Formats: sequence, structure tokens, C-alpha cells
Amino acid sequence: TASHSDALVFFGATGDLAYKQIFPALQAMIRHGHLNLPIIGVAKSGLTVHQLRERARDSIQNSGTFDAGAFARLSAQLIYIDGDYQDDATYAQIRSALGQSVRPLYYLAIPPSMFEPVTLGLAKSGGTKNARVIVEKPFGRDLASAQALNQMLHTAFEEDAIFRIDHYLGKEAVENLLYFRFSNTFVEPIWHRDYVASVQITMAEKFGVQGRGAFYEEVGAIRDVVQNHMLQVMALLTMEMPIADIDNHTGDAPVSPFGAWQEAGKNTAQDAIRDEKCRVLSAMRPLLLTDLVRGQFQGYRDEPGVASDSQVETFAALKLHIDNPRWQDVPFYIRAGKQLPVTCTEIVVELKPPPSTLFDKTGAEHPNYFLFRLSPDFLIALGTRTKLPGEAMVGMATPLIAHRQPGQEMTPYERLLGDALQGNSALFTRGDMVEAAWRVVDPVLNTVTISTGQTKTMPVISYAPGTWGPEAAEQIMDTNDGWHNPALKDTPP
Ligand code: NAP
Repeated sequence: TASHSDALVFFGATGDLAYKQIFPALQAMIRHGHLNLPIIGVAKSGLTVHQLRERARDSIQNSGTFDAGAFARLSAQLIYIDGDYQDDATYAQIRSALGQSVRPLYYLAIPPSMFEPVTLGLAKSGGTKNARVIVEKPFGRDLASAQALNQMLHTAFEEDAIFRIDHYLGKEAVENLLYFRFSNTFVEPIWHRDYVASVQITMAEKFGVQGRGAFYEEVGAIRDVVQNHMLQVMALLTMEMPIADIDNHTGDAPVSPFGAWQEAGKNTAQDAIRDEKCRVLSAMRPLLLTDLVRGQFQGYRDEPGVASDSQVETFAALKLHIDNPRWQDVPFYIRAGKQLPVTCTEIVVELKPPPSTLFDKTGAEHPNYFLFRLSPDFLIALGTRTKLPGEAMVGMATPLIAHRQPGQEMTPYERLLGDALQGNSALFTRGDMVEAAWRVVDPVLNTVTISTGQTKTMPVISYAPGTWGPEAAEQIMDTNDGWHNPALKDTPP
């Protein structure tokens, strides 16, 4: 049975992620009474523990959440180990700093090239017994490398001790997709191919690569957000109902609602959602090049760290299919890009028009839809038709805004770190799931073999910053309606 971890060791304590996310999350957990254990930061920058504490203070102050009392406790719990990840002595130091700990949680907040040396270093020192590990993204760069990474991790940790982070799954709005679908009587009966015409997911960012050009050159939009965040969202939207009793927790112990499963001793139940997500990901048809448009914003190649002839996509639009009885023939359109007109993530589930032509024909042109805005705020809207006041029996679009929520209670990192410490993996991607998601995008990732037997990369199409990407993105749509462009006003279309 799962027990709470009794120490947290995080590698990459001097890094960008630690600064932006981990320190603020740790202080928040302490503030909420969820973290009372030794916290050991590891890096090789030659800091003193005092300097690391100052860095943590600076990070939390920058995040705007500084709380003197909670920070003092964080400071007191924080230990620093300086050492090279290739050096056995580093792991010996960690072992001794762990003291009586029997179930440490290791957090690999380090570049992916370091996942292997650190995992093997920990295993060799005997530090992986009963331990858990959080692995940051990106989890591999294609199917083969993800499989290799899974194999490597499995030499040191059991699958249920591995927590692959996709911070999107820790977002309140993303959890709400699951809750909304399976808690409302009117949703499930129409949530399939007989009623759903198409599904669109747009993840738009108004900004560019923000100085992280060298990092982005190694990934591009498909690897950075489609394979993980977008496919996870799509899986939540399309999976079958999990067979499990998902109790809501009360009281303050579990951070995630799924924690209640474990408390009730139902250890397999936390896999119920992951089983269904994995099943639907496995039913997704591998992407065809003809269903993909790759774009690159003008100016990307001038960014520091970016090649002058870079073929990395900063925009991707794609069409996916799910080959199962529920979704056969329903097109799923995904679009993600940088330097677009707004920063917003929205899902539009468009329904088929009603059979009747009793009234005006505009109903058919403006069918019902569900809209879920996942960021920057959270909103669910149901697009309906109502009669326009007046003599004629003609209608108008009337969106019913079901729910609006400005922010969220808890950052994804706070929620996910808390879950991992408890051994609750419901909101983390499982090894088979991550491979199933890579399998969907793998055919278009590196090179394509053309009929002559040569391989070549599919070119990127340039687009002007502040636009919705290359025009070619329209051509993968089956309908004339085109993409739904988030407008970020209160009233959806
Ligand atoms: P980072 O700042 O580049 O690196 C983290 C730390 O690792 C550095 O402070 C450095 O510490 C150490 N390091 C860097 N390169 C190394 C090398 N070649 N050999 C040994 N140590 C090295 O990375 P990050 O941005 O914090 O990201 C950490 C992980 O989180 C990555 O897997 C990343 O993909 C993921 N992630 C980051 C973000 C983000 O916003 N930053 C978002 C999502 C996911 P020392 O030199 O002091 O040891």
C-alpha cells in the first residue's frame, strides 16, 4: 500500500524550473500544511545552503506569493548538496543526507540528457529502493527514445514509483473536463459520432520563444505541446467512463481528489482513468503528413540560439481520427502555435445540426457547440439557438455561459508534487500512455520517406507574427466553417 514519502530530493535546484515553479510550490505546500519533511536540493553550481535559501526567497518573492512564516519553515527544511551528477560521491552524500528516510521522492528537474546518469547513479548507490521519482518533460523526443527512457527508468524503479509530469494534468480546468463530462446527465448521451460533428482544440500563445530559442530548436510545437498536453486533453475529452468509484475527499490530507481511492485501499482504482486514457490514445490513428501543416513565425530564425535555416515548427495544425465505435469518422483538429493573436487555449465540440428545417436555415449554419476555455481563465459555454424577438420565426446564437472561474486555487506544480509525495499517480502519465501518445505523432516527427526512397523533412511554412499561422492550416479542415478563433471576450461566438 502507498505511504507518504518522507524526504524530497530535487536535482536541478539552481535551474529555471526550480526558480519559476518548484520553490513557490514548496512554500505553498508548507503554507497549506502539506509538507513537513527534509527537502534536499542538488546541483553543481558550488552554492552554499545560505545562497540556495536566498535564491528560493528571491524566486518566491518574484512569484508574488511570499509568506514570511511559511518561508522560514521552508528555509529550515532546505538542505543543499553540491556535486557532479557523474560522480558517485554525490549519491553517497545524498544517501547520508537522507538519514533515516525509507521512502524518498527524487525529482529530476534537470535537462533530459541527465535523466539517465542521475537514475543510474541513484540505483548504484542503493538509493532507489522504495523510492519514487518524478521525471520532467520532455519524456523522449519520439517513440523510440521514449521507449528507451521507459526501459532505463524501469531498471531502477517500478512503474508505480515513476511520476512523469505533464503539468497540464494538474490544471483545475483540465480536471474539470473530466468532471463535467461524467457528472452531467445531458452530456454523455450525445458525446459521440451520432451527434458530434467535429472537435477543435486551439492552444494559442501570443508570445514567441522568450529567449529559450536553443531549447525550442530541439523540440518544436509538436513535441513541446501536441504530443503531451494536447493529446492528454483530447484523451480526457474522448475516453470512456472509467470503472471506478471516484470519491471526493474531505478533510485536508489528500491534495488530489483521486487521493481518496488510495485511502479506501483501492490501489488499482487510481489507474482506472489512466487505463481509459491509454485505451483511447491507442485508438488514435497515427498522423499522416497530409493531415499536418507546420508553420514558423517570421523572425524565429533571428532568435538567439536558433539556426539561420531552422526547420523547427512554431505552429502546427493537424487532423486526427479515433478508430473506435464512439468516434469513428469524427475529425479532431488540433492547432498550437506561438506569435498568434491571443494567448488562449480553447476546445470547441461542434454538434451536428438538428434534422428539422422548420425554421430559418441559419440553425444548420450555426450548430450547437460546447466550448471549454482552459486558459487564461476557465469557462464552459453551451452554444444554443433561440428565437430572435419579432414577427419572423428566425433565430439567433445564444451562448449559455455555464461556468466562469478567473484563476485557480492551487498551481499545477503544488498539486502534482503533493500527489507524487503521496504516491498518487492518477494525474501523471503512465509509461504505456506516453508511448501511445508518441505513436500518434511519430510518423511525422523526423523525416519522411518519399517515393524515390529519399528522406526529407517536410518544410515549414512561414507566417507573420500576430496571425493565425499559415493559410494552409485551413486546408486540413473538412468543413467550410474553418477554425474557431478564440476572441477572448466574455461572449463566445
Ligand atoms: P535548466 O535551468 O537548464 O537546468 C537545470 C539545472 O540543471 C541547471 O541549473 C544546472 O544546475 C543543471 N544542468 C544544466 N545542464 C546540465 C548539464 N549538461 N549537466 C549537468 N547539469 C546540468 O533547466 P530547467 O529549465 O530548470 O528545466 C529542468 C527540467 O524541467 C527539464 O527537463 C525541462 O525540460 C523541464 N521543464 C522546464 C520548464 C521551464 O519552464 N524551465 C518547463 C517545463 C519543463 P547546476 O549547473 O548548478 O548543476
